[in-house]
Amino acid sequence: MNPLQPYFDTIEDMKNKGLYTAVRVLESSQGPWFRIDGKKLLNFCSNNYLGFAQDKRLVAAVVKAVKKYGVGPGAVRPISGNLALHMEAEKALATLKGAEAAFLLPSGFVANLVAIQTVVGKEDIAISDELNHASIIDAIRLAQVKTKFIYKHNDMADLERVLKEAKKVQKAEKKSDGSEKIILITTDGVFSMDGDIARLPGIVSLAKKYGAVTMVDDAHGEGVLGEGRGIVHHFKLHGQVDIEVGTLSKAFGVLGGVIAGKKELIEYYRQKGRPYLFSTGLTVADAAAVVEGVRILTKSKSLVKKLWANAAYLRKEFKKLGFDTGSTETPITPVMLGDENLAKEFSARLFKLGVFATPIKFPMVALGKARIRVMPSAAHTKKDLDYGIRMFAKVGKELGVI
Ligand SMILES: *Cc1c(COP(=O)(O)O)cnc(C)c1O
Repeated sequence: MNPLQPYFDTIEDMKNKGLYTAVRVLESSQGPWFRIDGKKLLNFCSNNYLGFAQDKRLVAAVVKAVKKYGVGPGAVRPISGNLALHMEAEKALATLKGAEAAFLLPSGFVANLVAIQTVVGKEDIAISDELNHASIIDAIRLAQVKTKFIYKHNDMADLERVLKEAKKVQKAEKKSDGSEKIILITTDGVFSMDGDIARLPGIVSLAKKYGAVTMVDDAHGEGVLGEGRGIVHHFKLHGQVDIEVGTLSKAFGVLGGVIAGKKELIEYYRQKGRPYLFSTGLTVADAAAVVEGVRILTKSKSLVKKLWANAAYLRKEFKKLGFDTGSTETPITPVMLGDENLAKEFSARLFKLGVFATPIKFPMVALGKARIRVMPSAAHTKKDLDYGIRMFAKVGKELGVI
C-alpha cells in the first residue's frame, strides 16, 4: 500500500462530510465584478480594498519596471538579487508607515515567521490574542516557544493578568545564556474575520508597564486605517510599537510581506531572518506595484475615503434589513449566520443570483460562528453595492434570516 494512502482517504472523507473546499477559478481580472464559469459576478469578498489589483496606474508602473529589470530577481537578495527597486519599495513603505525602516519578504505569512522566530525562541515567552491570524500562531509554534499565554480577545484586563504570569516566569529564571527572557505580545491590527480593531494604545501601555515587546500584524489595516497609513498612524503610536508586520497582498493588490520598525531591528532581521537569507526576494512586478501604490496613497486620500463611504453605506443598509454585522469597526462586513450549512446555502444562492461571497466557516472561525464576510472596496460603485444588497435581502428572506 502507498504509505500516503491514509491522507488520500481523508480527502474522500472530507468530501463525504461536506468539509471539502472546492476552489472557484477566476477567468478575468480581480475587479468589482469578475467572471467564473463564464458567469459575470459581483465580487463581494476579496481583500483588494482600494482596487489596486487592477488599477491602471499600477499596471503601467509594473510594465515599465518589467521592461527595465525583467521579471525576476534571480537570486536571494544577500547573494545577487537585491534590486534598487526593492530598496525603493522599502523606503516608500517605511515613509508611509512613519517607521525608521522597512523590510520586504515574500509574503505576509513569511513576514510573521521572520518577525517572530528571529526574536523569540524556546526560552522566551509569547503572548497572543485568542483571535490572532494562523500565521502568527504558526510562527510562535515554529519558534518552539515553550511558555505561551493566550488572552481573551481584545480584553486588556485579561492581557494584564497573563502579563503578570509572564513576569513571574521571567523573574524565576534566566535563559541559559544568562540573559532575560523576552516577553512578546502579538496581535492582529484589524481582526480579519470580525473587522474589529486591536486596542493598541492599551497593549502598548501594558507592554511598557511590564517591559514586554509589542508586535502588530496590520494586514487589514494598511491602505484602510489611518488615512491608509495603517493602525500605528490611526492611533498616533509612531515609534511605540516595536514590530509592525504587514502584507502587500491585501490593499496593495499584489503579493509580499513587510516588517517595519527601528533601524537596528530591521538591520538585525536582515542578518538573521532565515526566509530572507534562504528565499528569493519579491518579483519586479510586486515591488514596482508597491512603489506606485504608496505614491497614490500619499498623494490623495480619495480612494481610502471612498472605501470607508462604501463600507458605511453597506453596513447601514444591511442593518436596516435586519442582518447582524457583528462587532466590525472597519470595511470588513461580516453577515453573521451561525450555522455552517446555512452559510453554505446562503452563499450558493447568492452565486446563482450573480453575487460572489464565500462562506467563512470552521476552521477559519469557531464552530457555530459561520458567516459571510462581505468586503466592499473603493472600486465598487453605489449601483454595485445596491445590487449586492438587493440580492442579500432576497436570499435573507428566502432562508428566514431576516
Ligand atoms: C492575510 C493575512 C496574512 C497573510 O498575508 P499574505 O501576504 O497573504 O501571506 C497575515 N496576517 C493577517 C492578519 C492576514 O489577514
